[in-house]
Amino acid sequence: MVHRRRVTVAIALAFLATAGCAALSQINLVSEQDELAMGAQFATELEGELEFIEDPFVVAYVDSLGQELARVSKRNHIPYTFHVVDTDDVNAFAVPGGYLYVNRGLIEAADTEAELAGVLGHEIGHVVGKHSARQLSQQYGLQVLAGLALGDDPNMVAELTASIVATGTIMKYSRDMESEADAHGVQELYDVGLDPRGLATFFDKLEAMRGEGGGSSLEMFFSTHPDPGARAADVRARAARLPPKDLRSDSPRFHEVQDRVRAGQGG
Ligand SMILES: [Zn+2]
Repeated sequence: MVHRRRVTVAIALAFLATAGCAALSQINLVSEQDELAMGAQFATELEGELEFIEDPFVVAYVDSLGQELARVSKRNHIPYTFHVVDTDDVNAFAVPGGYLYVNRGLIEAADTEAELAGVLGHEIGHVVGKHSARQLSQQYGLQVLAGLALGDDPNMVAELTASIVATGTIMKYSRDMESEADAHGVQELYDVGLDPRGLATFFDKLEAMRGEGGGSSLEMFFSTHPDPGARAADVRARAARLPPKDLRSDSPRFHEVQDRVRAGQGG
């Protein structure tokens, strides 16, 4: 009796695993070319909607850190661009095709380079997993996305961009996608010699800040990145499984950049 039940459970699990894989592959049919073209449309639209920090010292630093992480990522054959958005909201996001945005508020909230890199690595992880393209194709269908890529529907690009500006994310990602992005981020940091636990300490800190009534600037991050406590634990567990290696957490340049954005020299 007990034996038979075990067999039933095993079959059910096997079925679930197969169904899960099929579902994922079906919603990931946007071609890379379309994804990049669509991303370029969003990037152009966002340029009109957001204020970017243009201080060359800040821009060059975020770009070099981001490019270093992107280069070791599992999707390093596409171009990546990084922008620093001049807003207090503690958040970062990616749109399809390698366009990444990190807010000034997040650079100010981070304590170390590894924390900032952890978040950048996580966002690159969403690009590696093509998460935003997948979510968009699931929501709107492939034909609509192909039209977007061709520039057929500027109104829809504008609408989606307005929603990115309001909510801090292009589409709500699934828990699995968040976890996959964390895993990519951990590996990228480790590969460039940065301590991947930076992502975990960043989650810890945000949760502590929120506990102290840390203000509305954090709300966006928590609405797009639920359950930071469990995620921090998961990141630490992943980091602990990697072979021991010399890893650094910080750099003087990060703090120079942080001082500059805090002093409002971004302009
Ligand atoms: Zn995420």
